[in-house]
Amino acid sequence: MHYSATIVNLTPQMRTHQNNFDGSKQISEFHMSNEQNAAQTILTHLGREPSEQYGFVNTPVVRGSTVVFDSYEQLKANDHPYSYGRHGNPTNDAVHKVITALEGAHETLLAPSGVSAISTALLAVAKTGDHVLITDSAYEPTRQFADSLLRANQIEVEYFDPRIGSEIESLIKPNTTAILTESPGSLTFEVQDLPAIAAVRGDKGIAIIADNSWATPLYYRPIELGADIVVHAGTKMFVGHSDVMFGTISSNEKYAKVVRSTYRGLGVCVSPEDSFLVARGLRTLAIRMKEHETRALELAKWLENQPLVDKVFHPALEQHPDHEIFKRDFTGSGSLFSFTLKENSEAGTRDLLNGMELFAMGYSWGGFESLILPIKIKTQRSVTQWKETGSLFRVHIGFEDMDDLKSDLEKGLARFNAALS
Ligand SMILES: *Cc1c(COP(=O)(O)O)cnc(C)c1O
Repeated sequence: MHYSATIVNLTPQMRTHQNNFDGSKQISEFHMSNEQNAAQTILTHLGREPSEQYGFVNTPVVRGSTVVFDSYEQLKANDHPYSYGRHGNPTNDAVHKVITALEGAHETLLAPSGVSAISTALLAVAKTGDHVLITDSAYEPTRQFADSLLRANQIEVEYFDPRIGSEIESLIKPNTTAILTESPGSLTFEVQDLPAIAAVRGDKGIAIIADNSWATPLYYRPIELGADIVVHAGTKMFVGHSDVMFGTISSNEKYAKVVRSTYRGLGVCVSPEDSFLVARGLRTLAIRMKEHETRALELAKWLENQPLVDKVFHPALEQHPDHEIFKRDFTGSGSLFSFTLKENSEAGTRDLLNGMELFAMGYSWGGFESLILPIKIKTQRSVTQWKETGSLFRVHIGFEDMDDLKSDLEKGLARFNAALS
């Protein structure tokens, strides 16, 4: 049930929904009523109640730990919407309601970073003696967490080929409790066949955790394709302005309870100041994604035609090896992709990067500004091999003038070439 993002007027029926809804049941009704434009309306209206804040449009930052009760009866009834800072806050509501609705989840919890969201989700479903399967293309800190803390707790960690599809069945053991996907991988952009993976894990009690940071729920809805838990580096597209660290964990009904108890046990919570900025970022997510998508695709195609470029790794390009799966499961693409050059050169890489005027070197992505990063794959794989030999770069395409971006890259490629001789 995918939707495209089209700006519409809010009908009275949708208005009722946006005031009330909070979970998967309501979103599906909402979709049925207006599938095509639900997402943009959700992003614009859900999670704020001007009438409850003196008419001001946005939910303000509510700072606080202690919540005081009016009476012993009220304290005992335990039905106050808020009880303690760590357990809920009106500013945080603005964020988790939106993500729950967009992901079609039962519940979303907010974490101080994407890594915190991933580790909390893994800890919720993997106990000592369990076996977990993680895509070989996973974000490197995800691997580091699995290789250190999970292994230290005698949890068996095994990596799988991101293109394994239904053959993952042969890796599933009686003690497998989790499969972690990240589609596409954020360095090399292999797309995973989530429906095929979900089909073979059957009802064996295996939780599929999907890192959906790249596509966002606007373009990819893992729960509909069989995932149980969706995690996000909210730091990236949700925030959109490179100024907050944030994470989200959205669970379906089956896993919401165990995820919540792990989250609470670990004491994970976020600052309402950060939530305020994430809520603000989310209001423009759909138009930012659309713009990132168009620009990244244009630059990817442009790079393909540059004589020094060998391959461009962007799943929306027809020649990408996973393009068919991408077309089937995604409704759009993100800001981030990578490319190799025909030559491999340390000096060329240095000269290309050092002279860039608009593309800045930085480990993150998702902001309004373009970024470039040299990538070395060797240390980040264990069961698959990166066979490309040319120098590899990852770019995030921001909102600068397109001709300026092309010219910056063109000059960079020329510097790379000059360093070869
Ligand atoms: C950045 C990133 C993360 C981690 O997010 P942080 O907020 O930096 O902890 C996880 N997954 C992917 C795909 C990322 O790009």
